[in-house]
Amino acid sequence: MRVAMFSTKSYDKHYFETVNEKQGHDIAFLEPRLTRQSTVLAEGYTGVCVFVNDILDAEILHDLAEKGIILIALRCAGFNNVDIKTAHEVGIKVVRVPAYSPYAVAEHTIGLMLALNRKIHRAYARVREGNFALEGLMGFDMRGKTVGVIGTGKIGQCVCELLNGFGCRLLAYDPYPNETCREMGVKYVSLRELLSQSDIVTLHCPLMPETYHIIDDTSLRMMKQGVMLINTSRGALIDTPDVIEGLKNGKIGYLGIDVYEEEGDLFFEDLSDTVIQDDVFSRLLTFPNVIITGHQAFFTGDAMQSIAATTLENITAVEKGEDCENEVTLEHIKD
Ligand code: NAD
Repeated sequence: MRVAMFSTKSYDKHYFETVNEKQGHDIAFLEPRLTRQSTVLAEGYTGVCVFVNDILDAEILHDLAEKGIILIALRCAGFNNVDIKTAHEVGIKVVRVPAYSPYAVAEHTIGLMLALNRKIHRAYARVREGNFALEGLMGFDMRGKTVGVIGTGKIGQCVCELLNGFGCRLLAYDPYPNETCREMGVKYVSLRELLSQSDIVTLHCPLMPETYHIIDDTSLRMMKQGVMLINTSRGALIDTPDVIEGLKNGKIGYLGIDVYEEEGDLFFEDLSDTVIQDDVFSRLLTFPNVIITGHQAFFTGDAMQSIAATTLENITAVEKGEDCENEVTLEHIKD
């Protein structure tokens, strides 16, 4: 299939070119994000391949359909950036990569927890300055701490497996409990109970209307004083201004995020020579107990290989008119 790939970085090109040797699609690797202005680049193609911050709203989807696009291949798991209902109405199929490496995201999640707990980001800077004092670097043992996992799908399950190894007590909230998690001793509780008992709360549910700002002023009030909050899922799961208030008054003792509600204007680009205009994000950067990574939790070579392979297989299936098990249908957005 002739595919226009938007938001392409060097690493995408590398992995897709290698895997495509076997699949033989005609791929144009385009650097721009998919926006109203850049849809023109999709002219003459049958499919577009996009990433997490390419927003495919109704207007863009109508435009793409008029240009003859029949397929949107998401090279990510989440599909909250695509108006699935409109895509269906205009006859564009949407496929995604539901699982590539849940380990990559789960391991990054644990990395954030450990770095925040043991203040590795601060220790790194101190030691480079010749400062070997330990004041302010004290952490806590993970063993015996209660961790609340919100969403126990593929990634949440891996997080539970890893935390089991640390000897944590695991609580979970998920409308569809996972038997494997239950078997390893994870206790399913209500969201309120999870929030009120957990020393660490980690988010692994998708972004949907029900989970939008699942962490806000109301849920923060239910949490323990000094709680650690980790979000490697989607930025809009947390209300950032409310979380900043929580950091200021000490309710949140640690914050680790790999995603940010307004990340589309920031992440995946080198902005080191520019002045960041987002004051909320800038405020987050001022806290000593906050670690932010720029949506890199998925970013391992193993995951990239798997993303490229599944994306290209999805495109091949649609091109051949076969059923694609990774198609996002209206069922996925049903309440
Ligand atoms: P998954 O579909 O396997 O699991 C999601 C789980 O969330 C399911 O068990 C589901 O029942 C549960 N859930 C649904 N609604 C819920 C609710 N209201 N409250 C609590 N749980 C709810 O997905 P996954 O592969 O584990 O991925 C989880 C999320 O991680 C994705 O939606 C995506 O946003 C994010 N993600 C981030 C990165 C990254 O690089 N930071 C990479 C991949 C995925």
